[in-house]
Amino acid sequence: MTKKTKSKKKPVKPKQKKQKKSTVAAVKKQSPIKVIVNVKKLLALDEAVKYVIDLSGEKGLEIFKYLIYHGPMEENLLAKQLKFNKANAIRKFLYKLYNKSLVSYVRKKRGVKAWYTYYWRANPDRLIFLLQKEYEDEIAQAKKSIDLNKSADFYVCNNCNRQYSLTKALENDFRCVNCNGVLSHLEASTLVGEKESRISFLNRKIEGLQSLIKTK
Ligand SMILES: [Zn+2]
Repeated sequence: MTKKTKSKKKPVKPKQKKQKKSTVAAVKKQSPIKVIVNVKKLLALDEAVKYVIDLSGEKGLEIFKYLIYHGPMEENLLAKQLKFNKANAIRKFLYKLYNKSLVSYVRKKRGVKAWYTYYWRANPDRLIFLLQKEYEDEIAQAKKSIDLNKSADFYVCNNCNRQYSLTKALENDFRCVNCNGVLSHLEASTLVGEKESRISFLNRKIEGLQSLIKTK
């Protein structure tokens, strides 16, 4: 009896294994977790648009948006659709986006020729991750400076808001080295309060970003 069931299962097993392996590899290459992003809301965020423009310019943003709305696309076709005269011209922008993994590609061989075709896709989930990382870094900085400010005496320039320790303020006769403005004493509690409200503002931003993602 045991022999029978064993022999029945045997030929099926290797086939299943092979199939599973190839899907895992394919998914790994593109994106580790399957996520659905509310791209409309994401691209309506000023900070999201600014991030992409700072990284890759207006053209980069145009490419990123196009790939989001039209799905993965072959490089030459993409160049044609966006009115670049050749793939080389669009590649410059794609690589800038690729540096932060906002786009990724798969290479495919076309027929027997040793010629690769590139298919590009946008990763909007990655943009959420990058923005969130920025907020988290700023929160960490703010927390650090809260700890510092709680124990220190601070001076601030009335013009440009640059901050000085008591020692630095004394060195410069209570004048700003940046703009020569007058320095005034800053209550540590005011500063800490400002930082704390900034932190809760950033935390709300992160929550907002998280609400744009659904994981499958
Ligand atoms: Zn100043």
